[in-house]
Amino acid sequence: MNKNSSNTMALTPNTSNKRETVCIFGTGDFGRALGHKMIQSGYHVVFGSRSAQTSSLIPKDAEVLSHAEAAQKAAIIIIAIQRQHYDFLAPLAEILHGKVLVDISNNLKINQYPESNAEYLAQVVPGAKVVKAFNTISAWALQSGTLDASRQVFVCGNDVEAKQMVMDIIRALGLTPLDQGSLLAAQQIENYPLQLFPMWKFPVFLSLGLTAFFFFYCLILEVIYPYIYENKDFSFFIAISIPNMVCPILALILLGLVYLPGVLAAIIQLYRGTKYRRFPDWLDKWMLCRKQLGLVALAFAAVHVLYTLVIPIRSFVRWRTSSYTVSQALNNKTVSLNTTNAWLSDSYLALGILGFFLFVLLGITSLPSVSNNVNWREFRFVQSKLGYLTLILCTAHTLVYGGKWFLYPSSYKWYLPHAYMLSLIVPCTVLVVKFVLIFPCLDKTLTQIRQGWERNPKPSE
Ligand code: NAP
Repeated sequence: MNKNSSNTMALTPNTSNKRETVCIFGTGDFGRALGHKMIQSGYHVVFGSRSAQTSSLIPKDAEVLSHAEAAQKAAIIIIAIQRQHYDFLAPLAEILHGKVLVDISNNLKINQYPESNAEYLAQVVPGAKVVKAFNTISAWALQSGTLDASRQVFVCGNDVEAKQMVMDIIRALGLTPLDQGSLLAAQQIENYPLQLFPMWKFPVFLSLGLTAFFFFYCLILEVIYPYIYENKDFSFFIAISIPNMVCPILALILLGLVYLPGVLAAIIQLYRGTKYRRFPDWLDKWMLCRKQLGLVALAFAAVHVLYTLVIPIRSFVRWRTSSYTVSQALNNKTVSLNTTNAWLSDSYLALGILGFFLFVLLGITSLPSVSNNVNWREFRFVQSKLGYLTLILCTAHTLVYGGKWFLYPSSYKWYLPHAYMLSLIVPCTVLVVKFVLIFPCLDKTLTQIRQGWERNPKPSE
């Protein structure tokens, strides 16, 4: 028996409160981090290793033994070893018979092997009860204690009792087990940590597509059209003017798309007269990525603010202002202030500033560290009421700024409407439908449906 001599202190205050012995195969990063956490939680930990030598990295109160010796000391054995080395377990099959083997392994690629690592482990050691767990938690998070965002541990296995034993350990470590069913779920659990921002895919691809579309749309109207018809070279618009058109357009459309699925869901529920039928898959997925859509929209709005701040120092703007002043001097004519235009300009700026302020507030409240500290009603108030107010302010900001183009036929270059007009379609649709939905007759029915009322309830059997 080999007791290692690390000076790592176990935080368990009272050793008489010791829980059962747990065995961990492998003294690598994860094995050590998990062992350390288990000792802190009152477990007696025995490591099974190829070399039963002391190391200052291994928790002080743990034993390090050979695999066969360690396995005999515990009913639960956590396999903190890569899948490709599982073969070494086959000769230990007799000792491992009837034991609970916890597979914590991950792969490098999604669906890397035909069967999950946990199912493979069950094939290598057929007499053992294999449970999949812990693979979504990193060794670093376990060791540093920064588990706030990842307290949930997915668990699956065919033996209910074995699964229960593992879930008890998970709870004792201060984590939350989530039972995912039989070992068939292991492949999905193993793929989970390999996914790259799954909720961000749709918002990112959508915004890339819309950015490309509106960039070329504005390029055609603002650069190519004047070049062909007026022989003017406005190609420098590509650097600031066009991005400063595309960013607010994207921000407004994406903000509209955050609230559109909510009104579509309300229409579907009103039409069906029940909330107990599933929404179509595409709507479910859309609703799940609303936060990401909103954050991408906020990013576009922030870039728009930055672009707007540099407008006064642009060479083109300074040239236009000075040549306008010079032309007034040459013509000996002073153009008096148009108060209507001044009102319009100040109003659209004020709406934009207020809209952006609320937009930032929405973004901040969507952060887990903030949203965890408000109750459900407060969260709904911010995300729904303030969210719609933000949408109204930003839509009004665009309407006041771009509304003038609706009336001038000259703005329809090549019969194409100005890009600002297109950006108003989604938010205006959302606001109009929402306005209709808050009519008392519809709102009352919708509230009843959301409280469980059904227009045509199924007869009870
Ligand atoms: P690691 O640092 O490479 O440690 C693996 C351990 O496996 C080694 O320290 C060694 O322990 C043992 N080992 C290596 N080759 C072996 C062989 N041929 N036969 C028997 N044992 C062998 O890896 P790790 O990061 O701790 O990861 C271990 C497992 O946890 C992996 O399956 C990984 O997917 C999973 N995991 C890791 C993390 C993480 O954050 N690191 C997170 C989730 C899941 P001994 O020298 O003591 O024998």
